[in-house]
Amino acid sequence: MTTAKKPLTKINRRGLMLVISSPSGAGKSTISRALMEADPTLGMSVSVTTRQRRPSEIAGRHYHFISVREFERLRDSDALLEWAEVHGNFYGTPREPVEIAMAEGRDMLFDIDWQGARQLQEKMAADVVSIFVLPPTMTELQSRLHRRAEDTEEVIRTRLLNSRSEIEHWREYDYIIVNEDLDTAFDSVQSIVKAERLRRDRRHGLFDFVRVLLEEEPKL
Ligand code: GDP
Ligand code: ADP
Ligand code: 5GP
Repeated sequence: MTTAKKPLTKINRRGLMLVISSPSGAGKSTISRALMEADPTLGMSVSVTTRQRRPSEIAGRHYHFISVREFERLRDSDALLEWAEVHGNFYGTPREPVEIAMAEGRDMLFDIDWQGARQLQEKMAADVVSIFVLPPTMTELQSRLHRRAEDTEEVIRTRLLNSRSEIEHWREYDYIIVNEDLDTAFDSVQSIVKAERLRRDRRHGLFDFVRVLLEEEPKL
C-alpha cells in the first residue's frame, strides 16, 4: 500500500484566513512581512486604500492606492469583501484574490483593522484565525511611530489618539501577542499558524488518510 505513505503535508486542507490587527505602530506590518518571508506559500491580501502612499511603499505590493471615486465604485459593485474607514481614509479587501486562494486551499494573511476583522468573522467564521498585536507600553507605541518616520506629526497624532479605542477591541480576537521583543512575537505568531494548520476541522483529506491507514493489515 503506497497511498498510506503519502506525506501528511499532501492532505487537502481548507485555506486559512489569518487576520492580524493592532493599533498603528504596534508592529503588525513588520510581523506580517517576516511571516511572508518565512513561508512563501502564504498569500498576502493587498488592500485598496485612499490614503497617500508612504515613501517606502510600493503600489500594488503594499496597497493599491486609489481615489475615493474608484473606491466607491469598487465598494458599490460588491468587489470588496469588507471595507472600513480608518484614521480618515478608506480601506478595503478586494474579493477576487481571496476567493481564488480559498478555492485552491491556500492560506492568506490580512492586515486589516478591527472593523474589517469583524466583517470577515461574520462572513467566513470557519476560515478566520485572528491575532491582535499589542505594544508593550503606550510610550513605546509613540516612539515606534516616530522611529518609523513615515508619517507627518499630524498623522502620528491621529493614530495615537485612535489607538486607545482600537485596543478596546482586543477581546474580539482569538490570539493576543504583546510585541515587546520582535523575535519572540514572531515566534509566537508562527506557532499559532502551525497549530491552526493542524486543526482537524480544516483537514478534509484526513478522512481518506485514516481510511487507507486502517486498511493496512498489521504484519503479525
Ligand atoms: P498601520 O496601522 O501603521 O499599519 O497603517 P495603515 O495605513 O497601513 O493601515 C491603517 C488601518 O487600516 C489599519 O488599522 C489597518 O489594519 C487597516 N486596514 C488596512 N487594510 C485594510 C483592509 O483591507 N480592510 C480593513 N478593514 N482595514 C484595513
Ligand atoms: P504597524 O504595521 O502595526 O503600524 P510597523 O510594523 O510599521 O507597525 O512597526 C512600527 C515601527 O516599530 C517600525 O519602525 C518597526 O520597525 C518597529 N518595530 C516593530 N516591532 C518592534 C519591536 N518588537 N521592537 C522595536 N521596534 C519594533
Ligand atoms: P496604514 O495606513 O498604516 O497602512 O493602515 C492603517 C490601518 O488600516 C491598519 O490598522 C491596517 O491594518 C488597516 N487596514 C489596511 N488595509 C485595510 C483593509 O483593507 N481593510 C481594513 N478594514 N483595514 C485595513
